[in-house]
Amino acid sequence: MSITDNIHRLNAELTGTAARLCVVTKTHPVERLQEAYEAGARCFGENRPQEMASKQPELPADVEWHLIGQLQTNKVKLLAPFVHTIQSIDSLKLLREINKHAASNNRVINGLLQFHIAQEETKSGLTLAEAEQILGSPEFPSLTHVRLTGVMGVATFTSDAEQLRREFQLLHSYFDQLKAQYFADSPAFCDISMGMSGDYALAVVEGSTLVRVGSAIFGSRG
Ligand SMILES: *Cc1c(COP(=O)(O)O)cnc(C)c1O
Repeated sequence: MSITDNIHRLNAELTGTAARLCVVTKTHPVERLQEAYEAGARCFGENRPQEMASKQPELPADVEWHLIGQLQTNKVKLLAPFVHTIQSIDSLKLLREINKHAASNNRVINGLLQFHIAQEETKSGLTLAEAEQILGSPEFPSLTHVRLTGVMGVATFTSDAEQLRREFQLLHSYFDQLKAQYFADSPAFCDISMGMSGDYALAVVEGSTLVRVGSAIFGSRG
């Protein structure tokens, strides 16, 4: 199957669900991103700031660039002129840095709070208590150049459907709690980013609004 066929098939599968597609383009050359764009994809996910910044000028301006990998504060400046959403916010320090560079570019950058939902300790992300600490801090309301639009999580690398389901439900429950506590009057806080090539169907059943799919579109990254 071609990139085009895969995107069409995924979009057809997502039709009628709450979820939209973020095409994970990391490691792939811009020609393949262009094919994805021509197939209708507009949300592209990259995990390395440098790689995203070098690809961005090669693609049309209406691409929504999403950073899905860990972000060091010293790389925020590189992305601030164009990034649409930073899905991997895991500290107040990072939030503060994004706000600062968004402000100096006269922009508002969208962000998702990344949660640790997997069994693997190596996977990053906040606990619910840590997120509450950030959102409850006196500084948070002053960070007006970041718009938090929801939550993100990476599930355990497993084929155990019950395990995956529990992790997706956990992330959904974090979203619900934060929505009620901090974002009841913010319609923009609406995204639950979960599900990848191996588990997106299950994630959609559990309420994902944004699936991040790479290898099921482009083949394995080798
Ligand atoms: C690479 C990556 C994906 C996509 O993984 P595939 O299995 O290739 O679909 C999704 N989310 C994150 C955070 C990633 O790093």
